[in-house]
Amino acid sequence: MDDIIVLKFGGSSVADNEKLKIVADKITNMYDKNNNIVVILSAQGKMTDRLIGEAKELARNAEKRELDALVSCGEQMAAAKLSILLNSLGYKAISLTGWQAGIYTNNTNQNAIIQNINTERILKELEQKNIVIITGFQGINENMDITTFGRGGSDTSAVAVAAALKAKNCYIFSDVDGIYTADPNKVKDTKKLHALSYEEMLEISSEGAKVLHNRCVEIGEKFKIPIITKSTFNNKPGTVISDIIEENTIKSIIKKDLSRVSIVGNGIIRNIDAMKSVLDIVQKYKLDMLEFDVTESKISITFKNVVEDDILEEIQSKLIKEESI
Ligand code: ASP
Ligand code: MG
Repeated sequence: MDDIIVLKFGGSSVADNEKLKIVADKITNMYDKNNNIVVILSAQGKMTDRLIGEAKELARNAEKRELDALVSCGEQMAAAKLSILLNSLGYKAISLTGWQAGIYTNNTNQNAIIQNINTERILKELEQKNIVIITGFQGINENMDITTFGRGGSDTSAVAVAAALKAKNCYIFSDVDGIYTADPNKVKDTKKLHALSYEEMLEISSEGAKVLHNRCVEIGEKFKIPIITKSTFNNKPGTVISDIIEENTIKSIIKKDLSRVSIVGNGIIRNIDAMKSVLDIVQKYKLDMLEFDVTESKISITFKNVVEDDILEEIQSKLIKEESI
């Protein structure tokens, strides 16, 4: 089937009925342009936290199998509500749970890995011109028990379904409009990136930035699915994660823990200017380095002391040339 597009909406994008209407509008706009649309949803707002909290009130160590049975309900509620709304607007839509959508996983409850997706049902629904809405974050194991993928796992559902359907691309909609050069809570004047390679994104996530579920980037890279992160609430261009590599541009400054700083950018190992700028700052502030690691696309430095956020800001202003859009 040609031109399938996968759209994933995060919890804050579907938090209430008003937001669901915004989401429905985005979906129907795309559908009207003749696309085959598959939607992956997270649970609404803080529903997953709420369900986990309620289980913990009942039992400190609830069985993982039962926790999966419980938290998977959050996504099921969101998917059914969106389908009800789209149908009421005159669009054909159907909600599917992970198992109905053919998402098979290993047996690791709470942190399951997708092993195989049988796309038969999804394709059948698309052929009937349905907008197919699939619950994120969950699948089924060989015992027909529900499994979930770990917090934030709906991103992985989206990219895995996109890969199985050979989709044109996979949009990840949330309340932020893309990937930024640094954590805006730590650094002023962060800039939005228009593009990143899979490898850069993996390096950024491995330094602890919780932007996307890490496995989704690995799957995107393996199956060459461009991942586009965008805001649900504006039309600004987002950030495209794909295998297009721009040499010599620094993409991200990340502080993991208090004293480890990483700078990510493809080909950074050959970027003498970047290396020199970083070392100049280290010298200027007389920072004590314990470890200095360089790989193809990342410099990581562990310092003896805490690195203040204004030093990150200075590294960003020296190294990042990209203009925000
Ligand atoms: N609802 C799940 C969570 O809150 C999965 C997701 O949103 O991706 O972690
Ligand atoms: Mg998320």
